[in-house]
Amino acid sequence: MTKPNLLRRLSVRLTLAFLLAATLGVTLVAVLAYRSTASDFQNFVHHLGNMPGMMGGMMGGPAAQASLEFLQNFGRTLWIAGILGVVLAIILGWLFTRQIVAPLRKVSEAARRVAAGDYTQKVDTRGTSELAELGGSFNVMAAALDRDRESRKNLVADIAHELRTPLSVLQGNVEAMQDGVLEASAENLALLHQETLLLARLVEDLRTLSLAESGQLKFNSQANDLKELFSKVVEALRTRFESKNIRLELAAPDRLEPVRVDNLRTEQVIRNLLNNAFQYTPEGGKVVVRLTPDDHGIEASIADSGPGIPPEHLPRVFDRFYRVDRSRARSTGGSGLGLAIVKQLVEAQGGSVRVTSRVGQGSTFFFYLPYS
Ligand code: ADP
Repeated sequence: MTKPNLLRRLSVRLTLAFLLAATLGVTLVAVLAYRSTASDFQNFVHHLGNMPGMMGGMMGGPAAQASLEFLQNFGRTLWIAGILGVVLAIILGWLFTRQIVAPLRKVSEAARRVAAGDYTQKVDTRGTSELAELGGSFNVMAAALDRDRESRKNLVADIAHELRTPLSVLQGNVEAMQDGVLEASAENLALLHQETLLLARLVEDLRTLSLAESGQLKFNSQANDLKELFSKVVEALRTRFESKNIRLELAAPDRLEPVRVDNLRTEQVIRNLLNNAFQYTPEGGKVVVRLTPDDHGIEASIADSGPGIPPEHLPRVFDRFYRVDRSRARSTGGSGLGLAIVKQLVEAQGGSVRVTSRVGQGSTFFFYLPYS
């Protein structure tokens, strides 16, 4: 953090730099002007003295005296001009320095207040100088910090909320068994086991997401055939889709250029999207997976014939813990982290995600992966 006396030292240094530059400049000009004028003038006087006739006669003793006086006057004038120049340099230097240091001081004070927890700090960014740009960058940084703090605060609250529900179900049921109200039958224990599996999944999803968000997730990237990865996941899930009578199709060109991705992480992306498509598509529906290459990469799309997502929810479906229908999603075991993980895993591999949807007709989730 910039301390106030650092800025004071900067002011002094800048003013001294101005003064030094001005003194050197003025001294150089004065010395050169004096030297060249003195020698030229003496040559001139000498030349006149050697001239025959009246002029030559006059250029004897009095002329030498006049030349001396002229040079003395000239030297004095140079001194006065030099001193005035240096004084002017000090005044201008001080004014310029103030112009530079004042906005720096504002940024420094705002930074100190941000560090103390006041994220609403804004620096005046009027003007077009680099300092106004610095103020603009500072404001962007303060806003990003504010968003980050807000999202961390929400994250902790969301995690606490998500953990509380399965934990209270477990607690309530175990207590009921202890009191003899609920029979500790295999069936009831299986239900409790189901809740512990949900909890474990939630914790594992959170771990993946937080590692991905902080850039700590390891990616073992290799050239992969995206069609092969999709076929593998599609075939593994086919019986599940058939059990709900959902038609599952994969449409892709025969040959696709390889993409450099981590195959396990990319399989997880595909599985998350296909699991959602399965979950939200009603019996007898249809899910179409399509791979479309272009010059720079491959776009994968997973289109379902589910209920669709209302437009006001679309911008937020990739947010963590965001669910369109809260009660329904939880009852089906959704943590609200699946799409957030998809986004993180795709973006960490240089790709992008998007979604389009029409209520009553279905949703299509897209992700794009570049070739290299
Ligand atoms: P969840 O574990 O709840 O499915 P996701 O992050 O995978 O969490 O999805 C977030 C929300 O987006 C879901 O709760 C659901 O409301 C909505 N959603 C995701 N995929 C679909 C889909 N294929 N059709 C309709 N809604 C979907």
